[in-house]
Amino acid sequence: MGADAGVAGYGGGGIVVEDKRNLDPEDWQDFASEAHALLDQAIARMAAAGEGPVWRPLPAEMQAGLQAGLPTRGAGQAAVAEQLAALLPYGVGNTHPRFFGWVHGSGGAASLLAEIAAAAMNANLGGRDHGAIYVEKQVVAWVRQMLGFPEGASGLVVSGTSMATIVALKVARDARIAARAAGVGAHRLVGYASTEAHNCVARAFDMLGLGADALRAVPVNAAFEMDLGALGEMVATDRAAGREPFLLVGTAGSVNVGAFDDLAALADIAAAEGLWLHVDGAFGAAGVLSEVLRPRLKGIERADSVAFDFHKWLHVNYDAGFVLLRDAALHLAAFEGAPDYLASCERGLAAGRPWPVDYGPELSRGFRALKIWAQITALGTGALGAAISRNCAQALALAEMVDAEPSLERLAPVASSVVVFAHVDGDAVTEDIVLRLQESGLAVPSLTTVNGRRAVRVNITNHRTRDADLRVLVDGVTAAIKRGFSG
Ligand SMILES: *Cc1c(COP(=O)(O)O)cnc(C)c1O
Repeated sequence: MGADAGVAGYGGGGIVVEDKRNLDPEDWQDFASEAHALLDQAIARMAAAGEGPVWRPLPAEMQAGLQAGLPTRGAGQAAVAEQLAALLPYGVGNTHPRFFGWVHGSGGAASLLAEIAAAAMNANLGGRDHGAIYVEKQVVAWVRQMLGFPEGASGLVVSGTSMATIVALKVARDARIAARAAGVGAHRLVGYASTEAHNCVARAFDMLGLGADALRAVPVNAAFEMDLGALGEMVATDRAAGREPFLLVGTAGSVNVGAFDDLAALADIAAAEGLWLHVDGAFGAAGVLSEVLRPRLKGIERADSVAFDFHKWLHVNYDAGFVLLRDAALHLAAFEGAPDYLASCERGLAAGRPWPVDYGPELSRGFRALKIWAQITALGTGALGAAISRNCAQALALAEMVDAEPSLERLAPVASSVVVFAHVDGDAVTEDIVLRLQESGLAVPSLTTVNGRRAVRVNITNHRTRDADLRVLVDGVTAAIKRGFSG
């Protein structure tokens, strides 16, 4: 019988309530001292972000420890605290001042505090009328102001730009065809993004039933910006073939080389052609806070939707993305539809519609908005923008150092935070440089391909990077070449 015994007991007239424990710690005082100790270790780890290797693989014995069987008996909070502390040094490395791989933010102290408060509240931000919802509304209002959008614009905190893109493109799709109930059917919708656009756009086309092939790859010019002449021709060709152009995607900060499409020109074209303008500003949109980058973002305030991340150049801890829609009514029309159990009321906890669930695919949602709110409140847009400007200056300085090395060749102009270069002896040498650097723990650039050549890709979206770190990187590159190829 086992677990059924209580039910049988109930049926027999005797309710057995012998166990008054819940799942909380047995002794909150003990828990408090364990928690304070872990907090000290976590803060020490953040304060020493620049010490030690940038990246180190998880040791074999710790990997083995994470392959244990499913525990039936708990080990207790003290044991958990110990294992959490042990894990602290084994992140991606993006908190280190010499992390330059892919596009990662470096995070910060405000997120640590906010995550503690969020954990204590355990709020569900799918909807309803409670404190956390007002924090997210504040974040939405700040984003509107940051990007120069009108009062009627709506927004949603999401996991990242990939999810933000799905939400934005669904609104764009549903604004054009009635697909919510009927499905996309034999639609002939097509959209346009440059060859440098992030593949989250093609993935969104795939997931929304439009098909990734319906996203046209528009060639770029020598600065890796969308070729507007080519765009015009492709739109005309598609129309002549009976297809229906509906979407234009501008990239503000391309992942490969950091280029910015001419957003003002794209806004003009979108208006003339009747296309929805979506901007992928995953890291670049944050540039509106920087004196240096703001001019490159002119036109973003005319977009129909923008997807961007707080976890990249705004250094909120992972994960924190955002989608902004110009027209709240279209946004609602793409996601609204409450079943009985989610009906709202004029008063009480179920008041305050529309709720976040009316603006996106997720019902249960955590309190990501709190760490965003905390970061902006603690630092202000001035300091966040200045850190972006400093990274742009560092990218230019690094480009000069690379240009001064005869064995290295730069593969693209520096548009923002990214410097790409190759070794003159070819792809294999270039790849080896990057892998050696990563494995040495000295610095972490990543690899990409630019105009068909393998490239060392250094992206500086890192508020902890100092100019001296760039020298260490360049010296590391030249040392890797010597160690690897001349003895
Ligand atoms: C990082 C990035 C994305 C994807 O964003 P996630 O937050 O990782 O989902 C999309 N576009 C660009 C340009 C990016 O740099």
